[in-house]
Amino acid sequence: MMSERRVAKVITGQPTSDGAGVRLTRVIGTPALEQLDPFLLLDEFKSDRPDDYLAGFPDHPHRGFETVTYMLAGSMRHQDHVGNQGELVAGSVQWMTAGRGIIHSEMPRQKDGLMWGFQLWVNLPARDKMTAPRYQDIPPAKIPEVALADGVQARVIAGEAGGARGPVEGIATQPLYLDVRMAPRSRVSPGLEAGHNAFAYVYEGRVSLGPGSDGGAQEITAGQLAALSDGDRLTAATGDSAARFLLLAARPLREPIARYGPFVMNTREEIAQAVEEYRRGSFLK
Ligand code: FE
Repeated sequence: MMSERRVAKVITGQPTSDGAGVRLTRVIGTPALEQLDPFLLLDEFKSDRPDDYLAGFPDHPHRGFETVTYMLAGSMRHQDHVGNQGELVAGSVQWMTAGRGIIHSEMPRQKDGLMWGFQLWVNLPARDKMTAPRYQDIPPAKIPEVALADGVQARVIAGEAGGARGPVEGIATQPLYLDVRMAPRSRVSPGLEAGHNAFAYVYEGRVSLGPGSDGGAQEITAGQLAALSDGDRLTAATGDSAARFLLLAARPLREPIARYGPFVMNTREEIAQAVEEYRRGSFLK
């Protein structure tokens, strides 16, 4: 029995700043949408004003979850406490499983020009929160781009779509991460695993989401996130405008969440332990 997902809730991103003063739009991780299990945070950063991004994200810790950085324009350099480093260029993805802990910096490589991208936080199940850190640095050419329908292209970062499998592997929550581009007057109905939580975040143009046949579709515009009801596919259709959006789905963990800044654990005691270990300098042992 096939069932169409619908728009359950629409969230508009909130302007904020983070790191040493990077201006960004927070879409998940605000009072309007604290989380969408297992997604804990979604930020879009987009600016061609160096003052908005040059301060970057100097050394800071993470424990208990995964950070996923997807760059559309510009480049960032990352470096961690054990010497892992690299450059995130336009079109690349870094899927970092922080596990028991990393301390790293994420700094713009450019001095001017457009910097545009997304950072997503994905929770880890309780049994994996203290796992060893792991990086998956994916260069642009390793991300398949497939046609999903006439006028509809998707880059497959994780999961499967259009007969292609994304390069990110071995993630506990079995995510689908697509970057979808639709021409005007196009239509597509990609499959989404039933029972997984899913959302679309529109970052350019406008698109109708949900079944059009019974008036169940809703138009979502750039800067808005649509949290989706359950089902095994989503219909997306454009009118006179093109659209670009991220389409994400993953297995919900349904575990208690204790969250304090860059630490996301299951209990307050585990958070207190992370804070104490970080203060003592024994965080990484
Ligand atoms: Fe970070």
